[in-house]
Amino acid sequence: MKETLFDINRLVRPNVARLKPYSSARDEFEDFEAEMVFIDANENPFESDVNRYPDPQQRKLKEVLAARRGVPADNILLGNGSDEVLDLLFRAFCEPAQDNVLTLPPTYGMYKVLAEINNVENREVLLSQEYQPRVKDILEAADRNTKILFLCSPNNPTGNSFSAESVTALLEGFGGLVVIDEAYIDFSAQESCLHRLEEYPNLVVTQTLSKAYGLAGIRLGICFASPGVIAVLNRIKPPYNVNALTQRRALIRLDDPDSIDKEVSDVKREKGLLFNALLEVKFVSQVFPSDANFILARVDDANLRYRQLLDKGIVVRNRTTQPLCENCLRFTVGTPEENSRLMEELRGMV
Ligand SMILES: *Cc1c(COP(=O)(O)O)cnc(C)c1O
Repeated sequence: MKETLFDINRLVRPNVARLKPYSSARDEFEDFEAEMVFIDANENPFESDVNRYPDPQQRKLKEVLAARRGVPADNILLGNGSDEVLDLLFRAFCEPAQDNVLTLPPTYGMYKVLAEINNVENREVLLSQEYQPRVKDILEAADRNTKILFLCSPNNPTGNSFSAESVTALLEGFGGLVVIDEAYIDFSAQESCLHRLEEYPNLVVTQTLSKAYGLAGIRLGICFASPGVIAVLNRIKPPYNVNALTQRRALIRLDDPDSIDKEVSDVKREKGLLFNALLEVKFVSQVFPSDANFILARVDDANLRYRQLLDKGIVVRNRTTQPLCENCLRFTVGTPEENSRLMEELRGMV
């Protein structure tokens, strides 16, 4: 394990460290697949496929995810989307009106919203012109109350990944938790940071089934971290935060890795075609290379082009108000038919 400034006992909120967690019926008698009479949880006894509470620790699902990602199940916590996982991190580690977090705009908007909801100061250090973290400025912006640094890589909305050197420098130079949001990692040529978990106890990696796995509707987010961090989050998570239908549906999907892999490679191929086609559009001045399933492109007038596309029945994301994203639109890679339709409309626009 690397010598780091990290000390989990200094980071966790005192009330969280002190509290006695809620113990559910399914925590107290865990073997709920056994042939027993279960009259401990005030459930309706008449069997349907959802009359029982779900496994609060989602053990089967964690086992499958652990095997797929090559990480022990003890390093995993699951949430109702990554958004819940991120919120748990705030609630476990950031004292309202006292602590702060660091975010690097332009990036995913939820970090800032969660900071506001939790009454935690959000310190912003803009990415460089190349959309890379400015390591020195970030470390200078941190103080003793800076509990979490959010790195989104591949980054939304810019699509690029952060350089391995800057991520390492931040993991080693920052004394709080470094959360690497890998929502788009399956589309990336860059390697996931999961293999660094053992080396860096301050590293938290979040992933999701919402993008590459095609399950945005079931809400399943994954947090990978050292067992100490996972234990803290387990103290405060709602007991049944991942419902039974979600657990089942995720298992069905994970049982068919070939179809996931095929969809991801189809999206990557289509992204290449879309990238080249966007370069040819006359009012597109810049197309940013992407490690994700979307492409950011700079146009002459984002508001105008956004409205024109809407009139044609195509909804894209206008990112023009984001710093360093002036006149930029974000295009999610669609089906081949949707992408052709988009290109046809863009080519026809004056
Ligand atoms: C889409 C996205 C997520 C996914 O959030 P879920 O709550 O798991 O659906 C997380 N982080 C980033 C950066 C995203 O773009």
